[in-house]
Amino acid sequence: MSDFDAIVIGAGNAGLTAAATLQRAGARTLLVERHNIPGGCGTSFRRGRFEFEVALHQLSGVGVEGQPVSLREGLFQQLDIADKLEFVQEHDLYRAVIPGQLDLTLPADWERAITTIEEAFPGNGSRARAFFDLVKAVAFWQIAAKRGMPAEEIDPTLFTYGLRPLRQVLDEYFEDEALKCALGIYWTYLGQPPSKLPFQDLALTLFAYFEFKPWHVRGGSQAMSTAILDSFLRAGGEVRFNTAVDAILTEAGRAIGVRLEDGQEVTAPDIVSNASLPVTYAMLGDIVPAAVRNDLASRRIGVSGFVLHMGLDATPAELGFTASTSFINLDADDDRTQASWHSLEPARGVCVSSYDVAPIGFAPSGATHISLMTLQYADAWDNIAPQDYASTKFAYAETLLDVVEHITPGIRDAIEEVDVATPLTMMRYLGHPGGAIYGYDQDATESWLFRNSERRTHVPGLHLAGSWAGIGGFQPTLEAGARVARRLLRTKAA
Ligand SMILES: Cc1cc2nc3c(=O)[nH]c(=O)nc-3n(C[C@H](O)[C@H](O)[C@H](O)COP(=O)(O)OP(=O)(O)OC[C@H]3O[C@@H](n4cnc5c(N)ncnc54)[C@H](O)[C@@H]3O)c2cc1C
Repeated sequence: MSDFDAIVIGAGNAGLTAAATLQRAGARTLLVERHNIPGGCGTSFRRGRFEFEVALHQLSGVGVEGQPVSLREGLFQQLDIADKLEFVQEHDLYRAVIPGQLDLTLPADWERAITTIEEAFPGNGSRARAFFDLVKAVAFWQIAAKRGMPAEEIDPTLFTYGLRPLRQVLDEYFEDEALKCALGIYWTYLGQPPSKLPFQDLALTLFAYFEFKPWHVRGGSQAMSTAILDSFLRAGGEVRFNTAVDAILTEAGRAIGVRLEDGQEVTAPDIVSNASLPVTYAMLGDIVPAAVRNDLASRRIGVSGFVLHMGLDATPAELGFTASTSFINLDADDDRTQASWHSLEPARGVCVSSYDVAPIGFAPSGATHISLMTLQYADAWDNIAPQDYASTKFAYAETLLDVVEHITPGIRDAIEEVDVATPLTMMRYLGHPGGAIYGYDQDATESWLFRNSERRTHVPGLHLAGSWAGIGGFQPTLEAGARVARRLLRTKAA
């Protein structure tokens, strides 16, 4: 008999929800995590009198009370954590700024956003309404397609617009360049510029935040990760931290267990991996078919991030932060901005998360915790000599401060605590190639539509869950883990 019914490798979002779903359904599950805390990206850490949020800028999908098909009413209730978490709503979607050209705060409400757009860009209210109708249609039919609705029943709007570059769709609906920038600015979360980003990706993102609102969690993403772990442990699950899985054991081409880094072998008929695909397949050794190895070699490792975490000795109002989330781009040349993520060229844009406009409890009273983030590929950091690493990262961090000074002049005077994370930091803490935070590049050719790794592992008994096997981001990975676990349980029951 096997030691467990299932082993889950990695306690990121998808690993946690997979483990909790399996154990709560009665499958004896071991969760193995190389770090000393649960969460993967969804963690926090302490500096001085501040706790710093690592990753969660805006949680999508939580939904307001009574809204069905939301994390709050769905997954979080299934895991019995809905009433153990306190969600903090961001009332604005974001503030979008291009110094001298654009400064627009979009409320997180379809109708109020249309009114705001009409006020700031007279004559564009009806265009915005038509654009939002398209966003809703493309998001809705995309979800239907993902849930398996046959193609002939899907509205052709999805096929007409879904894979067109965002830029083309914005050009079709609007003439004002600043307004196009304001409505497309979530591209800086998703990693592909409007000239390449499939419209369906922006549509899904806007829909998730407008319809289900943007949220923070009191106690940060760590509170959520810990709550899911507690749900797993309450159901009798077993977890090992500070333990990496070194190898996935196979017999006659089937996964039968894992070898831990101390050499111990643990058996189970089902293994769920939340580790990256390159790491997972490397752990299988020679049995991986050549076709799979070739396919993996053809894929592009996605973007990582550079984050400046700060504790500021001033309130958000004193600093001039009016929205929880602000995007500041120096200009509208998005292709150039995305290209700059491969270099140490001064940051051309930042996402600013101000966690005390609607406080999450990480800064003491009268102070503010913010993070400044720009996406960046790890290759920008590949050739830095170890002795130059610290000075290089602090010099680059200064360029993010230069950008944020456009909305908070004098912010440097309020800095009390600071910490800097580079793509190498992400690589070290997550164990992912390139420190990639959404797995592979999130463009059309790498998307779930063409490469659904979650459904095909080529090794019976091995299941993949997380950003490397599907869509990256908090909501998608939280849902992916539970989905993979449910599929596994259904197969066992059949
Ligand atoms: C700075 C930053 C900002 C972000 N901002 C947002 C945002 O605002 N909104 C959003 O939706 N998303 C955001 N993301 C992305 C989001 O956090 C991730 O896409 C998501 O959390 C990934 O979850 P995952 O389930 O794929 O697991 P991951 O978080 O990638 O975790 C994988 C886990 O597996 C463990 N592991 C790996 N190999 C092994 C092994 N061999 N043995 C044992 N354990 C192993 C790792 O230690 C890790 O804990 C951000 C990420 C970062 C880093």
